[in-house]
Amino acid sequence: PRLANQIAAGEVVERPASVVKELVENAIDAGSRRIEVELENGGTRSIRVRDDGSGIGEEDLPLSLSRHATSKIASLEELEGVASLGFRGEALASISSVSRLELISNIDDDPREGWRVVAEGRQMEPRVSPAPHPRGTSVTVRDLFFNTPARRKFLRTEKTEFGHVEEAFRRQALSRFDIGWVLRHNQKTLHQLRPGDDMVARERRIAALLGRAFLDNALHLDLETGGLRLWGWVGLPTHSRAQADQQYFFVNGRVVRDRLVAHAIRQAYRDVLFHGRHPVFVLYLEVDPLVVDVNVHPTKHEVRFRDGRMVHDFLFSSLHRALGEARA
Ligand code: ADP
Ligand code: MG
Repeated sequence: PRLANQIAAGEVVERPASVVKELVENAIDAGSRRIEVELENGGTRSIRVRDDGSGIGEEDLPLSLSRHATSKIASLEELEGVASLGFRGEALASISSVSRLELISNIDDDPREGWRVVAEGRQMEPRVSPAPHPRGTSVTVRDLFFNTPARRKFLRTEKTEFGHVEEAFRRQALSRFDIGWVLRHNQKTLHQLRPGDDMVARERRIAALLGRAFLDNALHLDLETGGLRLWGWVGLPTHSRAQADQQYFFVNGRVVRDRLVAHAIRQAYRDVLFHGRHPVFVLYLEVDPLVVDVNVHPTKHEVRFRDGRMVHDFLFSSLHRALGEARA
């Protein structure tokens, strides 16, 4: 099982940023209102994600580290309409097989309660001991890949690894305006984002994460047709120094990279004669969960739409209209 976990880890855990992504997804799934991400040395020395979510009970703690143990779906049918970000029950098992992982959690409102479990790359029944913690969970991952030197060798500089972590953090903070977020690196607080789901709060967050210039040169849109809703911000070409990598697309709150989506957006941009411009955007597509399949890839970055053509046409025509009007 340890080897199987390490192999699975190869798919899910590539670098500190992938650990952050998985831990934060768990925190979101636990219904947290506030999530703190703290790193040392770009995450290669340590990564800690602390949340105020539902917590994990004493009996479930060791189980949460074992492979294919998920509390999120009970049947294959449920997988069809999965709303949680996790559902494969692989992340914690994989991460703990290639790091020194400590999990402290409390399901009780009493901060004197709580339990701790540690795993150090070895396959053995993790021991549970009492450890006080406010309601919620803290997961600390130290010395990533300490026992898989071949993979450790592929880690880049602190700066590069932290860059990837920050990008993962940015995506996740953009996916949930209603959650408060903190990002710290080497004791320094880099982002402190208050929760808020109204327009002012959303734009404050966009500006904090993507820069004021992005927002000042972006068109806000919100369109709905036949059960599909598209809303968010699209950069206009007046933003001459748009960063090519500012492309964020979310499907039902899930970060998605999809060729069909990219194509529809590029096409709409080109059609409105924004020649040679690289589209920049933060867009949210909301659809019936039954029309998307998220179980395509372990990292869950890809989705498959049941009716890709329809989604493509909706995106294209929505953006085409909005950009055309802005241009006129
Ligand atoms: P998955 O998210 O696919 O279910 P994981 O390996 O990421 O699998 O997590 C295993 C289980 O541990 C989850 O199903 C959940 O029950 C529990 N868990 C993990 N992290 C948290 C957290 N931050 N808060 C509450 N429960 C958690
Ligand atoms: Mg998970």
